[in-house]
Amino acid sequence: PNPWEVPGAKPFIQIEGVVKRFGAFTAVNKIDLDIYQGELFSLLGGSGCGKTTLLRMLAGFDNPTEGRILIDGQDMTGVPAYDRPVNMMFQSYALFPHMTVENNVAYGLKREGLPKREIRERVNAMLKMVELDSFAKRKPHQLSGGQRQRVALARALVKQPKVLLLDEPLGALDKRLREHTQFELMDIQDRLGVTFVVVTHDQEEAMTLSTRIAVMNQGEILQIDTPTNIYEYPNSRFAAEFIGSANMFEGQVQRNGKGSTFHADGLSSEIRLGDKTEVDHGTAVTVAIRPEKIFISRTQPENAESMNILPGRINDIGYMGKYSIYRVDIGGGRIMEVSAQNRQRHHESERTLDWDDTVYLSWLPSSSVVLT
Ligand code: ATP
Repeated sequence: PNPWEVPGAKPFIQIEGVVKRFGAFTAVNKIDLDIYQGELFSLLGGSGCGKTTLLRMLAGFDNPTEGRILIDGQDMTGVPAYDRPVNMMFQSYALFPHMTVENNVAYGLKREGLPKREIRERVNAMLKMVELDSFAKRKPHQLSGGQRQRVALARALVKQPKVLLLDEPLGALDKRLREHTQFELMDIQDRLGVTFVVVTHDQEEAMTLSTRIAVMNQGEILQIDTPTNIYEYPNSRFAAEFIGSANMFEGQVQRNGKGSTFHADGLSSEIRLGDKTEVDHGTAVTVAIRPEKIFISRTQPENAESMNILPGRINDIGYMGKYSIYRVDIGGGRIMEVSAQNRQRHHESERTLDWDDTVYLSWLPSSSVVLT
């Protein structure tokens, strides 16, 4: 079972009512957050939302204006960075350019005055772990971006911290390398069992890497949950838009004997909502529908009575290879975005969807996410 789902389980990091002000500006506003041992936890948000400030307070580079942070049950107030069981992985450009890979990795251990033999063993083990043992004698400029990143990781992990803090760890890498390195990072984290706290503005990266994500905006946490739950059940318009894309409708909830429907502004037909909708009659809400939850077809769907159905006309098609994105005009000046797999055709005569086709969009009532 996941530790965060076990009632009474003890978190490894406890952030309690933490506020950080710079003069009159509040960068972090009353954050409460528990992170468990072995998690790969991401702080996700746009530029300036306070995620780096929060990470720096965990590291001990900054102090909270209010509130406190506990790590492994110990109050960290007044504990300097070097006495905390955490380490920060810096971007690879913080490597010492004149030192070899192995000396870069050994640097922190030498400063601690550990015996030479132990240093050598630990450095070698760590270079094996990041698969750079054959690069030990090279200098950083003789490595690729991804390799440099792994040296930075090895340098941070060789000190055997209980928590590793990573600020945009893959930010300097190009897209392909970033995707590859994500999986390496997850693999290493899994093997060592170290708790990782990652700061990122990249929602795909957070989705791929994390056990759980905290979605941040303007110094506050809007939602803390697993990637799946944040995607499927965003709790706010911000979270729904920041992670993936969604068709949004504004309007009022109507309740009657049969369940809940939604009357969207500017839309003639009602949208049926899932059975579990617990919103009072007349409440103004936003309804979000993910593009891939919507079926698109040229004929009326068969199970029409249990679906929401809107007719429309294809305005635009974005061909993405495995799937296509359709922009469908549903009237009233509204466009809905739908994504659908590009499936194999069974007959030469089968026609794929095309511009200006009249289509039906359909989705399950439970695929409409209600945001209050
Ligand atoms: P980015 O992704 O751009 O790094 P972030 O979410 O990490 O953004 P922070 O670095 O935590 O953002 O900064 C949050 C806010 O606090 C910003 O508006 C920033 O200008 C402000 N801030 C950060 N450090 C200081 C400081 N030392 N003095 C004054 N303001 C600061």
